[in-house]
Amino acid sequence: MVVVMEPGASPETIEVVSERLAAQGFQPHLIHGVSRIVIAAVGEHRAADTSGLENLPGVEKVVPIMKPYKLASREVRGEDSVVKAGRVAVGGGRSVVVMAGPCAVESREQLFMAARVVKRAGATILRGGAFKPRTSPYSFQGLAEKGLQLLAEAAAWAGLATVSEVIDQESLDMAKDYVDILQIGARNMQNFRLLRAAGRSGKPVLLKRGLSATIEEWLMAAEYIMSEGNEQVILCERGIRTFERLTRNTLDLSAVSLVKILSHLPVVVDPSHATGDRRLIGPMSKAALAAGADGLLIEVHPDPAQALCDGQQSLNPEQFTALMQDLQAITLVTGRKLGSLPEAGKGIKAAG
Ligand code: PEP
Ligand code: MN
Repeated sequence: MVVVMEPGASPETIEVVSERLAAQGFQPHLIHGVSRIVIAAVGEHRAADTSGLENLPGVEKVVPIMKPYKLASREVRGEDSVVKAGRVAVGGGRSVVVMAGPCAVESREQLFMAARVVKRAGATILRGGAFKPRTSPYSFQGLAEKGLQLLAEAAAWAGLATVSEVIDQESLDMAKDYVDILQIGARNMQNFRLLRAAGRSGKPVLLKRGLSATIEEWLMAAEYIMSEGNEQVILCERGIRTFERLTRNTLDLSAVSLVKILSHLPVVVDPSHATGDRRLIGPMSKAALAAGADGLLIEVHPDPAQALCDGQQSLNPEQFTALMQDLQAITLVTGRKLGSLPEAGKGIKAAG
């Protein structure tokens, strides 16, 4: 249930309600809205005695949450939440954020070139995997800590925030000192220990939809992170596995529009992994923004033919720059702006 406090309710009244909920076996989570505080009471469903709560001072009303996911639900928070990563804000409906970069960090030269290209084209977050969950154990597995160091250096040089995947507790502990956003990949969407650890890390988390996860399972995975007190979750639709073989996955754009209704969390779309085909990235990016996505995650490589990972779905610098120009028009039509204008004096420095 949620306990909606009156506008301007005092800290003491909030404390009394929280204590009452805790005594009844609920975990109280405070949610700060624009004009009032809402206390989400989560916990195992039981026949708790909630009578009397409505009569406590400062309480406006008590509303049951019908969905199995609670903290992730719009029932708990009506307004869109905004996740802050470095200087970049994701969600909130006013801007579209583009996260771009190579599938994997391969070398200093490759990453700095990618950082320059994506920054100049208007992206605000640099992606690059340092731990790659590959289907084959013989494929390139990533540069691990060296990759994270390069990502942090290239992003600082270009003036970008960063996102990179973690695959277990060890990689999470390492990555949290280097990156702005921890990515949990499709293959780990139901790794509940990892979800809880990401929740405890206090860092923003980009949670990809599992290969065959339902929308509800995806939102329950977000709930795991949030139940640890971390509200900074960005959902990422990256295609699901269907019977179709001509695309790598099937991009489920209806999920994007539906999740925007069901949840207050920002939703971004990854057209690269969703299609596996660079020719489809432009059309699917435009469709994603029209469907209401708050941003995009796009693979860009200085020389896709030489990529150690996912070259066939990576855009080259010219293709990415042209796409960003196209996306300007569609963002304007949807009443938003693309990326954020570089702050004065915060452009790319001369060397790197
Ligand atoms: C990635 O973004 O590098 C990745 C591995 O994606 P996914 O988990 O969606 O397959
Ligand atoms: Mn990839």
